[in-house]
Amino acid sequence: MTSTPVTIIGAGLGGLTLARVLHVHGIPVTVHEAEPAPDARAQGGMLDIHDYNGQIALAAAGLTEEFRAIVLEGRQAMRVLDRDGAVLLDRPDDGTGGRPEVQRGELRRILLGSLPEGTVRWGSKVTGTRTLADGRHEVAFADGGTVVTGLLVGADGAWSRVRPLLSDAVPAYAGASFVETYLFDADTRHPAAAKAVGGGAMMALAPGGGIQAHREDGGRLHTYVALSRPREWFDAVDFSDAAGAIARIAQEFDGWAPELTSLLTESDSAPVLRPLYGLPVGHRWDRVPGVTLIGDAAHLAPPNGEGANLAMLDGAELGLALAAHPGDTEAALTAYERDMFPRGAEAATDGAELHALMFGEDAPHGLLAAFAAGEEEAAGAHPGQ
Ligand SMILES: Cc1cc2nc3c(=O)[nH]c(=O)nc-3n(C[C@H](O)[C@H](O)[C@H](O)COP(=O)(O)OP(=O)(O)OC[C@H]3O[C@@H](n4cnc5c(N)ncnc54)[C@H](O)[C@@H]3O)c2cc1C
Repeated sequence: MTSTPVTIIGAGLGGLTLARVLHVHGIPVTVHEAEPAPDARAQGGMLDIHDYNGQIALAAAGLTEEFRAIVLEGRQAMRVLDRDGAVLLDRPDDGTGGRPEVQRGELRRILLGSLPEGTVRWGSKVTGTRTLADGRHEVAFADGGTVVTGLLVGADGAWSRVRPLLSDAVPAYAGASFVETYLFDADTRHPAAAKAVGGGAMMALAPGGGIQAHREDGGRLHTYVALSRPREWFDAVDFSDAAGAIARIAQEFDGWAPELTSLLTESDSAPVLRPLYGLPVGHRWDRVPGVTLIGDAAHLAPPNGEGANLAMLDGAELGLALAAHPGDTEAALTAYERDMFPRGAEAATDGAELHALMFGEDAPHGLLAAFAAGEEEAAGAHPGQ
């Protein structure tokens, strides 16, 4: 029984994990990626890869050893501060946590390196998709080309061009945005900030906002300043004027400890606005032959520390389902979606609860109470870090 060749749109962590699992099982696969080259864009910061989803996916991809080799030791340390810089919780990394940290770019490099040359078609930007009379799907590209496929997977993230084949849902603004900054060589150049952040992740939280930072490779501090404001509020800030934008965001943190606000005000990089969006919680669709979605395309949620992990697990599970049902694509897609829908909904619900603990009226004490109650899953996650 031969398997239908698979056409994946998007070479993010979800699409690449799917491609790798298919390759391991001898199923032909092509990935179309809009970006022109693997290094076209910086790949963002650190990801904690969980033993209950991301690590399972990497094992299915046969890449556990490669993953272990890129783990940054000690980065699972985590602390919670208040706006005055007082340390309310300080958890060292004792090496027993189930969430080792890696650089996203390194993880993507491993996945790309595990695929045969030519699997990913770079500079292949999808502009539209449609279902043909024979039930197959046509994918149109920005360069005017088209591809017709019997099995199409949308792994193309928040603004998926494949999703309209299955659902009318569109992401909605989540009521908050992150502003991303970096301090380089912080132990030497910004010692107070480096001390406040500590060895791993730091969250300084208050109602309506917070400053979250993570120690990356080589003394680099990566910060997401979180602020609950309408989209229009951020639209009125001119991010093309880096100093002006920083000053405007910093105003909202007036009175906070300087070692915390310096993560923003002393930034060595121009601030980048990251508005947060989510699909409706529990987003699902009726089965349409020959097409499905994985990762953010299926269940985008505001950052809750799970998105990349879930995208990889979706990719691995879909790949395994296709391998387990050779010649019966619909059985594979049905089995995959049966597990994926509730998994995505549960993560989004947990993420919304976590967000409320971190930035709600009771912040940061709600989060600390969750820790005290032993809610490891909720409290151990740290959105956007
Ligand atoms: C600020 C921030 C912080 C986050 N922090 C974390 C974290 O700490 N831990 C965690 O687990 N998750 C985190 N997430 C969530 C995580 O980034 C996503 O859930 C994850 O990247 C989803 O993976 P994906 O493969 O589904 O989609 P993506 O990573 O978005 O990949 C989609 C790919 O498709 C390509 N593409 C898009 N459109 C087209 C097109 N038209 N044609 C062809 N290709 C296309 C894109 O270029 C991209 O390569 C964070 C998200 C944000 C915004």
